[in-house]
Amino acid sequence: MHATSPRPRRRFAWPIGTGIWLVLVGGLAMAVVSEAERHPLEAEALSQPEAVLAKLPPLLADAQLRGAKRELALLELARANACRVVANWDCQRDAGRAAQMAADEAGEPFLAIRALIAESRGLMAKQQYSPGSQLLAEAERRLRRTPSPVLMADVQLGYSSMSNALGRHELARTYADRGVQALGSVAEPLVRARLLRNRGRAEAQLGRVEEALASLNEAIRVAAAVDDPKLSAELDLELARIARDQGDVATKRASAERVLALADQFGHPQLRALGNEVLGQIARDRNDLVAAERAFQVAVDQFRAAGLDAEERRVLRELIRIRLTLRPERGDLGAQTRRLLELDEVVDARDRALVGEDMDARLRYAEQQFELQRLAKEGELAAEREKTLAASNRLRLMLIAAGVLGLCVVAGFLYQQRRANARLQRSEAALATSQQRLRAITDSIPAIISHVDRDQRYTFSNAFMHRLFGSHEADIVGRTVREVRGDRIYATLEPHLRRALGGDTVSFEGQAELGGRQYHYQTSYIPERDASGAVCGVFALTFDITRLKLAEAQLEREARFDALTGVANRRHFEERLALAVARGRHQPVALAVLYLDIDFLKPINDRRGHAAGDAVIRAFAERVGRCVRESDLVARIGGDEFVVLSEHLTAEEASSAAERTAREVIAVMAEPVLFGETALHTGVSIGIAVTQSAQQADALIAEADRALYAAKAAGRNTWRRAGAH
Ligand code: GH3
Ligand code: MG
Repeated sequence: MHATSPRPRRRFAWPIGTGIWLVLVGGLAMAVVSEAERHPLEAEALSQPEAVLAKLPPLLADAQLRGAKRELALLELARANACRVVANWDCQRDAGRAAQMAADEAGEPFLAIRALIAESRGLMAKQQYSPGSQLLAEAERRLRRTPSPVLMADVQLGYSSMSNALGRHELARTYADRGVQALGSVAEPLVRARLLRNRGRAEAQLGRVEEALASLNEAIRVAAAVDDPKLSAELDLELARIARDQGDVATKRASAERVLALADQFGHPQLRALGNEVLGQIARDRNDLVAAERAFQVAVDQFRAAGLDAEERRVLRELIRIRLTLRPERGDLGAQTRRLLELDEVVDARDRALVGEDMDARLRYAEQQFELQRLAKEGELAAEREKTLAASNRLRLMLIAAGVLGLCVVAGFLYQQRRANARLQRSEAALATSQQRLRAITDSIPAIISHVDRDQRYTFSNAFMHRLFGSHEADIVGRTVREVRGDRIYATLEPHLRRALGGDTVSFEGQAELGGRQYHYQTSYIPERDASGAVCGVFALTFDITRLKLAEAQLEREARFDALTGVANRRHFEERLALAVARGRHQPVALAVLYLDIDFLKPINDRRGHAAGDAVIRAFAERVGRCVRESDLVARIGGDEFVVLSEHLTAEEASSAAERTAREVIAVMAEPVLFGETALHTGVSIGIAVTQSAQQADALIAEADRALYAAKAAGRNTWRRAGAH
């Protein structure tokens, strides 16, 4: 998800994320040039928003009339920017949407992405985080097709602002950092300064004052290169907040006054409110309640005018507190308290609604629908597996309980038998009946039931045991365990038997071959005590649990293979990779990884349905399997993503084998896949990475992934190889 990679589709924890943008910057210099294109009015909007808003309508109408879609998109983006500066969020949202439509019609992907970002900003400023984050996700999805470090940084900026607004400051800091990383060495002071501002804000909220000051000062340094008074005001406010926490009144007042001057310049209610709030706090801290009341009152009015309920509530609370001290009898106190209660209700209801939504889930929206479905299916499978395992465990417990019950019955009957023996001769007939009953019960239990005395000599065995061993009671009773089971098996039983004769109840599992068949069994030994409490023998109960064990093994196998294609799944692949790495510690192993991604699968899904897409994925897996050695591993690790892992003695061998495989796979995929009567044409892009030492496997995967993207960028249906180690 986003927390580890800017490209949400990939779920590996390998460090393949942000760096890929930096690599692509070099290869796609064209993208960087056109993404930077802006209408001159867009820059002007930063310092003269009102003037720009006045100039735009005729220009927009003219572009509309001429059908100049590209120009229209650029003008709408300028409008969105001007609206942002004057805090007119509806206007920013609408301009962003209009810009996106125009850019899509003009076939200008970068402008469309910028428009999506602008619209999402408008929505988020109105606290509509769900639709706002969905637009960011859409922007991020498009950026995978047309990469741009600057726009990717801008998307991260959006996520980071949203995280800050939702109180997720750690996450906000991570996104801001990721944005800075995405920018790399690209000089884009506007975005960079805002990312640093967000980072500073998050750090301040997390109580990391030193880091916050460093980030904000860096932001101020970067912002000096551009003329964006609103950004400067925001940075001032952040500094004022920190100054207040540290009791630095002079810095705080200076910042508040600069903010107010800018607020006047732009007629910006939110900035004016924030500046007055800071002034009110300063006055209150030095006990000048009259000045504090005045400043807080302005702040309350301005927040209300800007529709910022939570902020209005925060300051209104302060204001009421001061009024209660100054002149509790004033009539408007009642009205203000009522307003506070009203705000409490509104804000609490909204907070509850926000808490109800899982923000992380929203942030993951960018993931492909099919990937999500696939994961859901995996989840269901895992749940199913859990259920089956739980059922087999229950069954096992029930068998054990039944066995113990059986043993108790045996013990009871043996006890009776002994008493009958004591009375012996008084009732020969009763004894015979008792023995018959005992025999009937124990013979009908599907488990081996036996009894041995202190000398480990059988005194009793049931019919199940005779059937299983192909023997008779006479072959068993009177002989020792060692004589009946043989030296090898006795060696495994003896320690348990000894413990049971020492007074412990023992339970253990094992395997044995009987009549050419391999059995898994579970045995319980229960000590038998005489009247004085001394152990005089052991009851033994053994169940055949072969079917249970086989079912468990089958489940384990299923957890390793992909249901659609039958090839290994990601878990299996990761295990094999870990094994190769572990082996590499003792002997040199060269590894080659091919990262394969089917070209244009989505259009097949869209036009022919998912069954057709599935058929392509299946055929692909089968054809790749034909192009590799038996010792290579083919695994499906994502929707239409596969890897081939192959081990060799030297890197040269690994390289030439991987390139040969890549060529063969591309050749076999030239053949269309037949789906009913329809021939489906696809291709495959492949990234290859090779390493001399298996210990660098993680970096290897990241490299193969980057090489794959280079192959995609080169027009698809081809392969690219990363540099060798
Ligand atoms: P590209 O040429 O760049 O590889 O684009 P693509 O159309 O192949 O799309 P991409 O690789 O970006 O995304 C993979 C798509 O594969 C997303 C989804 O539509 C589809 N997909 C993923 N898993 C499945 C699946 O199990 N069955 C089917 N039918 N389609 C899937
Ligand atoms: Mg694909």
